[in-house]
Amino acid sequence: MAAYEQMSNEELLTLKQDLEARFQEVKRKGYKLDMSRGKPSAAQLDLAMKMMDVLNSETDLKCKEGIDCRNYGVLDGIKEAKELLADMTEVPAENIIIFGNSSLNIMFDTISRCMTHGVLGSTPWCKLDKVKFLCPVPGYDRHFAITEYFGIEMINVPMTVEGPDMDMVERLVREDESVKGIWCVPKYSNPQGITYSDETVRRFARLQPAAPDFRIFWDNAYGIHHLYEDKQDNLIEILMECERAGNPDMVFKFCSTSKVSFPGSGVAAIAASKANLAEIKRYMTIQTIGHDKLNQLRHVRFFKDIHGMVEHMKKHADILRPKFEAVLQGLETELGGLEIGSWIKPRGGYFISFDAMEGCAKAIVAKAKEAGLVMTDAGATYPYGKDPKDSNIRIAPSYPTQEELSIATDIFVLSVKLVSIDKILA
Ligand code: PLP
Repeated sequence: MAAYEQMSNEELLTLKQDLEARFQEVKRKGYKLDMSRGKPSAAQLDLAMKMMDVLNSETDLKCKEGIDCRNYGVLDGIKEAKELLADMTEVPAENIIIFGNSSLNIMFDTISRCMTHGVLGSTPWCKLDKVKFLCPVPGYDRHFAITEYFGIEMINVPMTVEGPDMDMVERLVREDESVKGIWCVPKYSNPQGITYSDETVRRFARLQPAAPDFRIFWDNAYGIHHLYEDKQDNLIEILMECERAGNPDMVFKFCSTSKVSFPGSGVAAIAASKANLAEIKRYMTIQTIGHDKLNQLRHVRFFKDIHGMVEHMKKHADILRPKFEAVLQGLETELGGLEIGSWIKPRGGYFISFDAMEGCAKAIVAKAKEAGLVMTDAGATYPYGKDPKDSNIRIAPSYPTQEELSIATDIFVLSVKLVSIDKILA
């Protein structure tokens, strides 16, 4: 197919007429479709339904250490839950604290604690004139929402296929003491599905920040969320790497079973150095008497160990893979060679990231909406909702059915084509 930019205005106008007719035809069908939600489908949730049967009124609700999980106590999580989540996130069990149902909640708490109480004796961030965070872009809107909420200035750092631009990260953390942290989704990133290269992780571990209380917020949300058994990305474990580099306290690592068992009813954890964990526990002692141990027990008894979890994730992959492939195939067939958009083929995670021609993302999302397809708002993948190039669109293929996805992809590519033609003709 010829690139649109190479076509004459006349050719483009003829093409536009044809595409517009197809668009109107689809619009008349009155579809209601949604490719915005990065959440598992009902079929995926069904995979963990038996977890509901693991605990009942007959069950022995004592954990391995003999503690009655029905009662108060055990601030940092039952031993077997720590072991399971430690294996999931590849750290020793002594480096992990189990929290409640949401890792995002732990991230919010962590920033909140840094603001009010500082980090290992440093000045609380709220007492400083300026606090800045580095934000690899495109990234996860809810990360950016947390830092925005606390009035932390966000600095865009472009992503490359190997992770964030590390020259820029190294320079900014070295030169500016007000840079206190960076948001990272290091494996199958949201939204690009990029996994940080070995070199990137090593450079992270060897950072020499001007601020002693600089922290890497390493959100390993998609650590075991592969789409393929034979093509998996590998990520170097950061906690150990930081220790090796003489920076043991520089990282907070987060994970949860939200997209392993049930989002909103999973188990979440933070992994960090002993010094960081001790400080977190001091704060937790005031915050809670303990999190939901019955849910921890339920998860451990259902998955048994990391091998059970890995097997379970293969079933998720079997449901997700054809959906990703349907969207990618649609993009390739309809947009390949037109030079009006680019995308990355992820090997895991929950998203496909699409980069339209500059200045087109908002219009594409609006156009798709006209035909009944809801996409994530353009700009959402950037701090303050502002994509400077108005180009990035996040596609979430997990929730719609296969049939809905195929119609949604048709609407999306039609919208991309129509908006791009207008842009070229303008
Ligand atoms: N981190 C990332 C990168 C995510 O994409 C999501 C959900 O989409 C979350 C965290 C939310 O995690 P949780 O459900 O554990 O709060």
